[in-house]
Amino acid sequence: MRYDSSEMNNPADHKLHPQTLAIRIQAERTQNREHAVPLYMTSSFTFEDAEQARAMFADEEPGSIYTRFSNPNTNELVEKMCMLEQAEDGLTTASGMAAVFVSLAGILKSGDHLVASRAVFGSTHQVITMLLPRWGITHTYVDTNADQQDWERAIQPNTRMIFAETPSNPGLDLVDLSMLGVLAKKHNLLLNVDNCFATPYVQQPAVFGADIITHSATKFIDGQGRALGGIIVGKKDVIRELRFFARHSGPAMSPFNAWIFSKSLETLAVRMEKHCSNAFELARWLQGNQMNHLERVRYPFLPDYPKMDLARKQMLSGGAMVCFTVKGGLERGRRFLNNLQLCSLTANLGDTRTIATHPASTTHSKLSETDRKAVGIDAGLIRISVGLEHISDIQHDIARALAASVD
Ligand SMILES: *Cc1c(COP(=O)(O)O)cnc(C)c1O
Repeated sequence: MRYDSSEMNNPADHKLHPQTLAIRIQAERTQNREHAVPLYMTSSFTFEDAEQARAMFADEEPGSIYTRFSNPNTNELVEKMCMLEQAEDGLTTASGMAAVFVSLAGILKSGDHLVASRAVFGSTHQVITMLLPRWGITHTYVDTNADQQDWERAIQPNTRMIFAETPSNPGLDLVDLSMLGVLAKKHNLLLNVDNCFATPYVQQPAVFGADIITHSATKFIDGQGRALGGIIVGKKDVIRELRFFARHSGPAMSPFNAWIFSKSLETLAVRMEKHCSNAFELARWLQGNQMNHLERVRYPFLPDYPKMDLARKQMLSGGAMVCFTVKGGLERGRRFLNNLQLCSLTANLGDTRTIATHPASTTHSKLSETDRKAVGIDAGLIRISVGLEHISDIQHDIARALAASVD
């Protein structure tokens, strides 16, 4: 690997910006002199001789052996992500949930305890509450409005890790990353942050002391709703442990998906800029024009957002997700979705196309009303993944669907 580099050799007089490097990092060019990276669609790699095979398995010589361990396409993707996240090392997985699972199961063992923010992705909640207990790993959830003392009270002598998702899916709640960074350090815990909603364009948890950062690459990293994947980056020693777990348990990313994600990362900043500006504009417009239909609008950079100071401290922008609660609860929420004509009804997010979801009747329908309330999901909550279409077309579609869904 390293850089696609004729222009970049020895830039001692000018340090390149991470955004530039994330565009120019590329698997080493082959004798074919290709410009874009080739797809290394191969399960394994050949050895020059028995001695090289021995040396590579013994970690004495670098290089790809078998695609379950690593591959030039996944290596390239990891290097780009490390650059964007300001992280030391990383690995890729077959999905975002594989990344979350590896980040937990690759470290925690029987008897360990996990402290986690209550507002986490639905499947992460299932892993924490239904799967980890099978192996004797317990947890304590901390509420969204918890302060430092509440977090500290949740820590037990056998706590090993803090897990947080910020902004949370779907409620857009924030957790104070620098507070968690300090707490993790003080109690010698690993801090693990799911940074899927923000992307490294909006926030870099490593800067606040996170040891592990997990991503669903399926979302904004792909950005076009094509491929499933996960990425974990973080501190070198921690990643070494996680890599051991992943190498032998096998949730590897396909080289084809890595090739897609890596090319997509080259446009992450420009896409996120537009996603975020469309989202902010939509949030302000909803609040200014549609409040006859809505109970509230939630977006981290809106002036009435409860943690706006925190949002502005740890995020570059409010992100690409907007939530609002329609008046009229569950049935109005369903009617609203049925009246949309442009926005897609689909379970994904982070696409060029705007997507509307209604968590109470879909992703979070298995939770009780009380549990939904505890993670900020009202019956009428609508989550919009704001796409790259012209903002006035998105507004027009939402305005029409709101008007048409009045009882
Ligand atoms: C989608 C998502 C995941 C899981 O990712 P998959 O690629 O669907 O497995 C994890 N965390 C968050 C916050 C997500 O939005």
